[in-house]
Amino acid sequence: MPKIYFIDVTNRDGVQTAKLGLSKLEKTLLNMYLNELGVFQSEFGFPTTKHETNYLSANLELARMGVLAPIRLEGWIRAIVADVETAFERLPDLKHLNLSISTSDQMINGKFGGRKDHFDIIADMVAAVEAARQHGAESIGVNAEDASRTKLEYLIEFGRAAKEAGADRLRYCDTLGYDDPFTIYDSIKALAQKVALPIEVHCHGDLGMAVANSVAGAKGAVDGGQDAYINTTVNGIGERAGNADLVATVLALTKSKGMAGKYELGDNIDLSRAWKIAKFASYAFDVPIPINQPGVGDNAFAHESGIHADGVLKDPQNYELYGFRELGRGVPEIVETGREIGAGEYSGISGFSHVMGKMAVSFASKQEANEILELVRYANVESHKPLIEDQLLFIAKYPKIVKKLLTLTPLE
Ligand SMILES: [Zn+2]
Repeated sequence: MPKIYFIDVTNRDGVQTAKLGLSKLEKTLLNMYLNELGVFQSEFGFPTTKHETNYLSANLELARMGVLAPIRLEGWIRAIVADVETAFERLPDLKHLNLSISTSDQMINGKFGGRKDHFDIIADMVAAVEAARQHGAESIGVNAEDASRTKLEYLIEFGRAAKEAGADRLRYCDTLGYDDPFTIYDSIKALAQKVALPIEVHCHGDLGMAVANSVAGAKGAVDGGQDAYINTTVNGIGERAGNADLVATVLALTKSKGMAGKYELGDNIDLSRAWKIAKFASYAFDVPIPINQPGVGDNAFAHESGIHADGVLKDPQNYELYGFRELGRGVPEIVETGREIGAGEYSGISGFSHVMGKMAVSFASKQEANEILELVRYANVESHKPLIEDQLLFIAKYPKIVKKLLTLTPLE
């Protein structure tokens, strides 16, 4: 039976969202957490965007070192040869790519204004897939942007051409959140059967159905005989009303009436990391987790009314579908209520050594301590908020990598 995998796109769809962003160190830490949680792949950024180059290159280096493994790091570019050339010029070690192009009449007419027709779209995509293969790409996903508003016959033709050119997966993008669980199930099942490629399911929440549509789409792919790759973001952060939330989608696939035990995950997801990654993304994006968020919201395991509190005390299963420990909750967190010494962009060596000493980190020499402190200052300049313990530890452990990813020199 085909399986369901996760491709997290927080570091692409999440960071391109209006009013929101992450520093390069925050993006890197998110890749680390996604790896720990066990997702198959992180869409880790934009290979043709100049300021991403050092960050992407540093993360590819972490992959080579075995630090970011087994997670796959995949870049998002447009499905045109020029983008493929630029991507490999800047990042010769890039192994995984998703190539994106619009397929709906609305977007072909509305964006290209007669300069490109349906035939040109397929020709551009095919040429881009072939170029990526020539440059040594190990896996290639082809994204049909606005697939949900694209005629199914054309989508099948597009998918078959992608397969013939050597693509490994077809991404069905419900770019505007237009699908519902019933329509996306039918469309993706037909695509899986007629194109015979694994299908990526990319859903947005404009009508409040991103998670439901992702589950239904994945079911359609599996029922159609193909693996499914669900695109998620941490806390559902993404364009406009957001994407399918990672934790909620994992819960839906593993706990819901029609999916639990009937459909199999391809990834070894460690849900006990959910709490940590959700809290980190909330802090890094500076967006609070809604109180009623599935699994990780403040109220996800809170009971107050008489009948509910009594029932859950007698047996949690009376009013809880899953336990809080499964999500990594229930561990006391230390909040400093007295004197605080922090590490930031204007810190000195004394305060910094005190902070690191509290985490049992010591340095071989004064010079080493000064070098790490310098990187901490720069990291703080970029993020404008206190670095968390994991960031400080990461900097102390991988100073060369951090130096690279913090280096923002405008390219010619
Ligand atoms: Zn999207």
